[in-house]
Amino acid sequence: MTHCHPDHIGGLLDAENRRVFNVADIVLHPLEAQHWLDDEQFTLADERGKRNFRLVRQTLEAYAGKVSFLNDENIAEAIMPVWLPGHTPGHTGFLIESECTSLLIWGDIVHYPHIQLAQPTVSILFDNDPVQAKETRMKILEHAVNEKLIIAGMHLGQRGFSFIHKEENGYCIAYIN
Ligand SMILES: [Zn+2]
Ligand SMILES: [Zn+2]
Repeated sequence: MTHCHPDHIGGLLDAENRRVFNVADIVLHPLEAQHWLDDEQFTLADERGKRNFRLVRQTLEAYAGKVSFLNDENIAEAIMPVWLPGHTPGHTGFLIESECTSLLIWGDIVHYPHIQLAQPTVSILFDNDPVQAKETRMKILEHAVNEKLIIAGMHLGQRGFSFIHKEENGYCIAYIN
C-alpha cells in the first residue's frame, strides 16, 4: 500500500468488515501502521478523521498475520519502495526499475496535478504534514525529471501514466498516450 487513506484501502474489506483478498499480503511502511494505531493521533482527529482511523484499524485487524513492513530492501526483484513522507507519515512510492525507462508509482504526491506541478508548494487539506509534503513533492519532482521516470499516481487526472517536465517556474505533466 502507498498509504492508508480510505480511497486507497477502501476495497480491502467487504460490508461485514471481512477481508476480501484471502491470499493477499499487505506490505506497509512501519510509520504508516504506527500513525494509524496511535491513540493520541486518533483523539486529535476530527469526526471524519476518526472514521479513517477506524477503517485502517479494522482493515489491519482483518488482515492480521498477513501484514508485513517495508525496510530498505526490494519488495521483489526490481520493485523498490521509496519513502515519500508528508501526505501521511509512511506514504511510500514504488519504483519499478527497468533497463530503459523506470516507473514510479508515487501515490498521493499530487491531487490536482495541473495546480500542484505548476506550484509545487501547494498542499491539500489531506496532507498530514503540509511542510514535509511540500518538501517531498519538490524533491521527487526534480528526481522524476532528472531520471526521466514514468509516473503513475492515483489522482493524476485523465490518464494513468505520465512524464514530468520542467518549466520556467515549476513543472508540467505530459500524459502518455
Ligand atoms: Zn491520500
Ligand atoms: Zn488518494
